[in-house]
Amino acid sequence: MFNIILVGPPGSGKGTQSERMVQKYGFIPIALGALLRQQMAENGANKALIEGYINSGQLVPDHLSFELVTQLVQAQPSNTSFLFDGFPRTLAQVTFLENFLKQFHAKTDGVIFLDVPSEILLKRLKNRAIIEERPDDQDDNKIKTRMHIYEQETLPIVNYYKAQGELHSVDGTQNVDEVIKAIETIIDGLRS
Ligand code: ADP
Repeated sequence: MFNIILVGPPGSGKGTQSERMVQKYGFIPIALGALLRQQMAENGANKALIEGYINSGQLVPDHLSFELVTQLVQAQPSNTSFLFDGFPRTLAQVTFLENFLKQFHAKTDGVIFLDVPSEILLKRLKNRAIIEERPDDQDDNKIKTRMHIYEQETLPIVNYYKAQGELHSVDGTQNVDEVIKAIETIIDGLRS
């Protein structure tokens, strides 16, 4: 297993970059937000529950995200390379993931942080609201909630990985091609 975590605030470009990384390196993506939206679209058993959290900008409860991550990882062969996109987002999720990967004698091989200042994020999210029509991008309060959760819950994990020497920061204000180039340099360095 070779595992990369992609972390960054809402609107930092994780989805766009993870697609490119999947194409180039063949990672299996564990993109929690996209998976949750897919479950809502499929009208699954937890649809109403998930919808309530996502549409108001809250994180879904850990038991749901842990179950999804477990199922997805276990469904793949043991030599798979995973790209965790949007998971973990809290210190509790970091602890879960570290313990979970130990079962496979694996660990996090690197954490890539897409660094984008909040003024730019707000502009991007408003733009995305028009293009993708995601309900959680549609109003300022929902965006504010997600930014607040990011600062309270996710920034501590960025600092944790920094302290562990595992964090690789990328300037996420560059254009898409420049960002992917910087990410590829980091991944190639980690794999060599
Ligand atoms: P963004 O990074 O722009 O918020 P995502 O698609 O990654 O977009 O996430 C959308 C929503 O999915 C989050 O606001 C949250 O409700 C849910 N979600 C995503 N990742 C997690 C997670 N690790 N834990 C709990 N909920 C999550």
